[in-house]
Amino acid sequence: VFPPCASDYYQFDDLLTPEEQALRVKVREVMEKEIAPIMTEYWEKAEFPFHVIPKLSALRVAGGTIKGYGCPGFSITGSAIATAELARVDASCSTFILVHSSLAMLTIGLCGSEEQKQKYLPSLAQLRTVACWGLTEPGYGSDASSLTTTATKVAGGWIIEGQKRWIGNSTFADVLVIFARNITTNQINGYIVKKDAPGLSATKIENKIGLRIVQNGDILLKKVFVPDEDRLPGVNSFQDTNKVLAVSRVMVAWQPIGIAMGVYDMCHRYLKERKQFGAPLAAFQINQVKLVQMLGNVQAMLLVGWRLCKLYEKGVMTPGHASLGKAWITLKARETVSLGRELLGGNGILADFLIAKAFCDLEPIYTYEGTHDINYLITGREITGIASFKPPA
Ligand code: FAD
Repeated sequence: VFPPCASDYYQFDDLLTPEEQALRVKVREVMEKEIAPIMTEYWEKAEFPFHVIPKLSALRVAGGTIKGYGCPGFSITGSAIATAELARVDASCSTFILVHSSLAMLTIGLCGSEEQKQKYLPSLAQLRTVACWGLTEPGYGSDASSLTTTATKVAGGWIIEGQKRWIGNSTFADVLVIFARNITTNQINGYIVKKDAPGLSATKIENKIGLRIVQNGDILLKKVFVPDEDRLPGVNSFQDTNKVLAVSRVMVAWQPIGIAMGVYDMCHRYLKERKQFGAPLAAFQINQVKLVQMLGNVQAMLLVGWRLCKLYEKGVMTPGHASLGKAWITLKARETVSLGRELLGGNGILADFLIAKAFCDLEPIYTYEGTHDINYLITGREITGIASFKPPA
């Protein structure tokens, strides 16, 4: 596992604390030795390998930056580097953890009551229970702030009525964080819905070409009752949802970094091993140029991702910073993985060689947590002061 891989060219470890370095080694070791050998098979079958949950639980990464409640309380840089190391081996695995941890757990951590944190976070941190996070609806993706799932006050709680789409982990999650429009205030509120709530159902979305291991579902909420104690007191408008998204976008930005690192490492090995015209593929100038282009991208992506974390730690990171980071890094990863796919020739389209899987897995990442263009528009609004989401009247 260590000494460093080829993708660690600019000695990125120097920028990490000893604790962050140790976390990186731990995650990389478990992912390479125990998780990598089985993921292609599950990716092909589009099934979730439930038997890896104890291995992921032992890594103690769920809960990331949350302090207390059995959560690891990592620095955001530590949590980010763990995300990259998960994604370096398998992007689905990192998405499973991100939805659970950086979306659902973080929402409870940032917006939940003391009782909710004590009740839900410890078992989620150990992955004894799994969570999902439902914002998107069939009719409202980029325009999520217009969502139409409703929350109506009744004696002792709320009735939630509506649909959600694309929700990762939702087919088996024990805890569902659901956003709905309060029909009295017309504002977005957040609720914790339990798996066995009458009226709740989730159906797996089939035939995805990327992140095939992640179980994305369509959720139907038919008059689901949520008791008062499970309304998240800190979600009172869409802005509160955005606070969570700004942090989780930093984490999502580290998925493409990890994917690109894994792909570069794989290509670097492959080009030296495979021969054509009597010479290793690495001996041809054009292949070297592509390889170095990939390497340059990876080094730049690492530094942008690291800087985002430092801005967050200084308390000065803005939504625009996070959006630009997520969108630009994912764009560069797409270019990197595409070059890698070319360099492997025919093997570049076989899931067995990592790159084809990585190539497909990047597509949903390019789109989720705000599409590439929507994230650029968030940054565009911040730097110009002009929102351009709606066509001129
Ligand atoms: P649309 O909003 O229909 O956009 C289509 C295209 O139009 C895009 O290119 C977009 O950039 C462009 N566009 C839209 N509006 C504008 C505009 N104003 N200006 C310029 N261009 C515009 N959601 C959750 O809540 N929880 C999850 O766990 C979750 N997991 C997901 C996992 C996967 C695999 C995928 C694919 C999605 C997931 N999502 C999840 C939903 C995801 O966040 C949305 O798919 C995303 O926000 C885009 O919405 P949409 O697919 O409806 O695309």
